[in-house]
Amino acid sequence: MVFAYYNKLSATRKNIYRKSDEIHAVPLPDGTALHPLTSRLASALEHEDRVRTEEICRALARGMTSRLGVPPLRLKVLAVRPTTRVEELHGLYELAEGRAFAVITLWMRTAKHRRVVAFRSFLRTLLHEICHHLDYHLYHLPDSYHTEGFYKRESSLFHQLLRDA
Ligand SMILES: [Zn+2]
Repeated sequence: MVFAYYNKLSATRKNIYRKSDEIHAVPLPDGTALHPLTSRLASALEHEDRVRTEEICRALARGMTSRLGVPPLRLKVLAVRPTTRVEELHGLYELAEGRAFAVITLWMRTAKHRRVVAFRSFLRTLLHEICHHLDYHLYHLPDSYHTEGFYKRESSLFHQLLRDA
């Protein structure tokens, strides 16, 4: 199945889309070693501790990028999401481009809903943004699309990080 916007893409972009759609999982070597971090993340969010949440997300991102052999990322967790950004709920991925590192920004709460994001959806957002990074650096795709394959990769990481947790 392809999403509706596929039909509007150029031939080159359709090709990128199809490559993205064909990859269904991201095998994470020794992913179980990261399970304690996901438990700590749940607790940090429960306590609405932004600094700890950020530290744990950085450790998780480092754990994944080093295991997968892709460049490290910069990551920041902010308290409240500005109202101007509507595209994705709680996260943003920015390519390195001129900078030394790509940047992931996560928000603990939206401006509209002041409550802290639930642990599972927060973790999914982190993994979603990391999947954008993997598209460029692990799969060497020239662009990163939200394909069905993309969402499967996000879920694949999610289940590896939470298994037996
Ligand atoms: Zn996205």
